[in-house]
Amino acid sequence: MTERPVVRRLKRLRSRLRRSKLDALFVTGAANVRYLSGFSGDSSGLLITPADAVFLTDFRYAEQAAAECPGYRIVVRRKDSFTTAARQARRLGVARLGVEADALTLGGAERLRAALGRTEMVGTTGLVAELRAVKTGEEVRAIEGAVRAAERCFEHAKGFLVPGIRERDVAAEMEYFVRGLGLEGLAFPPVVAFGPRGSLPHARATHRQLGAGEPILIDWGVAADGYVCDLTRVLFHHKIPAKFEKMYRIVLEAQRRALRRIRPGVATKDVDAAARGPIRKAGFGRRFGHGLGHGIGMEVHELPALGPESSVVLRRGMVLTIEPGVYVPGLGGVRIEDDVLVTPKGARVLSTVPKHLKDVVVGG
Ligand code: ZN
Ligand code: ZN
Repeated sequence: MTERPVVRRLKRLRSRLRRSKLDALFVTGAANVRYLSGFSGDSSGLLITPADAVFLTDFRYAEQAAAECPGYRIVVRRKDSFTTAARQARRLGVARLGVEADALTLGGAERLRAALGRTEMVGTTGLVAELRAVKTGEEVRAIEGAVRAAERCFEHAKGFLVPGIRERDVAAEMEYFVRGLGLEGLAFPPVVAFGPRGSLPHARATHRQLGAGEPILIDWGVAADGYVCDLTRVLFHHKIPAKFEKMYRIVLEAQRRALRRIRPGVATKDVDAAARGPIRKAGFGRRFGHGLGHGIGMEVHELPALGPESSVVLRRGMVLTIEPGVYVPGLGGVRIEDDVLVTPKGARVLSTVPKHLKDVVVGG
């Protein structure tokens, strides 16, 4: 019988704990809890030691946890989760307890410290996130499933892009369509930005109506089977304005160069630089103010980050977004975002939404 993914993941985490000289890790980040236990609810934590795996939850989730997390000892708490975790850690003889610095609140940390007595609390970052950065074949297939659904969702949305439609109506149609497929839904509130609003990289959909001949920026993703995707396309109604044609060509070229640079062993900042070069050369350097991309998986933003400062080295099995953009206030923006798997020899683009100039004009 093949080993369950959770068992494999716990093994790898435990060897990281040993290297960090920790006796246990208190896991509170919801996606990390799910990754290490299979639990699909919330408000729960894990206490992982070399020999024990304790699932800490409350009455609402006790039955679900027992069903979803075989191999864990389920502890249904009566006190708050920090006091309960501290008690369990002391019972198991933990001297150095790792906590997830990025997930714990200051209030939670104070309560935990107060209840830990002589057990030392050690802040950690990335112990689970770094494991999650490298995907198994099964995880890649789940992301691909989300991508396929996102592609269908986009085709559906295109049918609504006629002058007079509101950004919010397009966003609502997309959500409704994905739910109709029986999936969890969109991975995040989509960006649907018409005309000059495209220069706001994270514009929320508003009541603004589409004007004839305006550019349309849509950034969307789907959540399916616990995994997400994240894509962006810019469309033009009727025809491409000359200023946008230049921007579009540059962004597409920037993305192409980044994709060619990807392979195991390459630093993420070098991939970022490959995209930034042509944008800078065209005089838009200051108009590309965000990083080139980010890892995706159970969450929309995972490791690694791709930016001018990021020194992470790419590994086979990482799944990234590559999303160069150019934003001109008052005019609009162009961003092209695809999801990419790092393969032994390079990159495989998982998304197939057309992006050549001839493909991005809608409404004839
Ligand atoms: Zn996006
Ligand atoms: Zn993104």
